[in-house]
Amino acid sequence: MKEFELINHYFKGRGIARRDVKVGIGDDCAIVTVPEKHQLAITTDTLVAGVHFFEDIPPRALGHRALAVNLSDLAAMGAEPTWISIGLTLPEVDMEWLEAFTEGMHEIAEYYNVQLIGGDTTQGPLTITICAKGIIPNDKALTRSGAKVGDWIYVTGELGDAALAIEARKRQIPLGDKQLKRLEEKLHFPTPRVAAGQVLRGMATACIDISDGLLADLQHILNKSAVGAIVNIEDVPVSAVMQQLQPEALRRELSLAYGDDYELLFTVNDSNKGAVEARLRQYGVEPVCIGQITASAGKLELLNEGEKCPLPRSGYQHF
Ligand code: ADP
Ligand code: MG
Repeated sequence: MKEFELINHYFKGRGIARRDVKVGIGDDCAIVTVPEKHQLAITTDTLVAGVHFFEDIPPRALGHRALAVNLSDLAAMGAEPTWISIGLTLPEVDMEWLEAFTEGMHEIAEYYNVQLIGGDTTQGPLTITICAKGIIPNDKALTRSGAKVGDWIYVTGELGDAALAIEARKRQIPLGDKQLKRLEEKLHFPTPRVAAGQVLRGMATACIDISDGLLADLQHILNKSAVGAIVNIEDVPVSAVMQQLQPEALRRELSLAYGDDYELLFTVNDSNKGAVEARLRQYGVEPVCIGQITASAGKLELLNEGEKCPLPRSGYQHF
């Protein structure tokens, strides 16, 4: 199969067609219309085989995940996802693999009303780079820099299951088949908090998605906002499987200092606390308050049942 046949078969004309796309796949550039009084949000994430995913990941899951992690960045800024492009490097043309991969990607794109508008296809070690674009009403973007002393710190869901799925393989943590399967589902098919991000526009003071671990990502908010934080670790939500995990140090490491959850971490002024909780629940998200912003710039303190406790190993870094 030639490059153009491949593009036509697996990418062009698949998925949804948005009215704001004037030129899609097939020309030198795509042309889109940004609605009036809106700004464009743009993000890129690369997934490299063996680094960001196990080589035996089901291709449908990979297609989903590659797009989900990009949509999660848009969600963290409060953007509405609209268009994506993909840079795909393939070792070979494996039609069965491509069918499943593109199905996984088109499925989630369709769900969030996102159109694939272009890309590039090359040969080499399996690598997927997606550039996702979204729109935000002027000056309504959520950033990392707005947290204020006294704000409450929230997460949108349970942390650590994806980490446990990865580490269960690497370190041979004994888990039942059913448990392992459920954890792998969470690793392979993360749900970007797209609706929650938009709900938080104008309500959250700062927001970030948890890709490198709760503490590492909270630290980004603290640095950018020049504030500190206290986190009550017994309040950090974890799944039933995670609750049972021993030893406690491992449980802490996976839920606090490991990425891949793609929940949102955000801060809210006390006066908006009730409203934010109520609005998110309307969208099926159960926000959990895990701590509070303090005045000690850059400093993150952990409490366990009110007692100070040390920080676990910090989040994933490539270099
Ligand atoms: P050019 O050489 O002008 O950069 P290409 O031959 O790389 O264009 O691509 C032709 C068209 O197909 C372009 O519109 C490009 O955006 C699109 N395209 C290429 N690869 C992909 C892909 N994997 N997914 C979606 N669109 C793609
Ligand atoms: Mg060209």
